[in-house]
Amino acid sequence: MTQFENKSLTCPCCEQSFETQLVIGYQVGEKDSDFCPRYLDGNPLPHLLHVCPGCGFVGFEADYRNLKDASQIKKIVNLLAGFHWQKGGTLGGAERYRRAALIATYTGKRSAEVADLYLQATWCSRMEGEPDDEQKNARRKAVKYFELALAAEEFSGDDLPVVHYLLGELQRRLGDHAKARKHFDKLDGFKDVDKWLLEWRDKQRALMQ
Ligand SMILES: [Zn+2]
Repeated sequence: MTQFENKSLTCPCCEQSFETQLVIGYQVGEKDSDFCPRYLDGNPLPHLLHVCPGCGFVGFEADYRNLKDASQIKKIVNLLAGFHWQKGGTLGGAERYRRAALIATYTGKRSAEVADLYLQATWCSRMEGEPDDEQKNARRKAVKYFELALAAEEFSGDDLPVVHYLLGELQRRLGDHAKARKHFDKLDGFKDVDKWLLEWRDKQRALMQ
């Protein structure tokens, strides 16, 4: 069972307080080839991001606590104004992750964190049955920010094989087989790559032949 706990949050942008629920437990089965979890009891991802009913700010519980910089808040307020929020509105899971990713680019989050938010947007988009184009747009942005994170050396050496596998798989899903192969081939340059990861890589690479 997905488990929740009641929580009151105060919005850093419009200062409205509201009641929400924190996810404190859920169950995961297997994972898709792009690491999208197959949740056994519904998708908890949308509930990890909280939408302010007053202004449409979207963030994790920690974002509500940590966002204090006045100039960052001003930029986000301007960004949110462009979405024409209706007071008391709601957002689906994929849209929550897309907006959180956009907001994250204004709050100085690392590219790897922005990439993760776009990746999770693609997962929610699939689970929510959105049109394919929505998934593809978010997937392109996830690739862009994972590449930026690689260039900025945001990942530890231990994480690099997984990152290259994931980039290979995201490029494969976007139909760019040359770039997919380039990332899949990178795994051969690392020592001690987990066996399961090489198996997954071989399986996905074979789909392109
Ligand atoms: Zn607000």
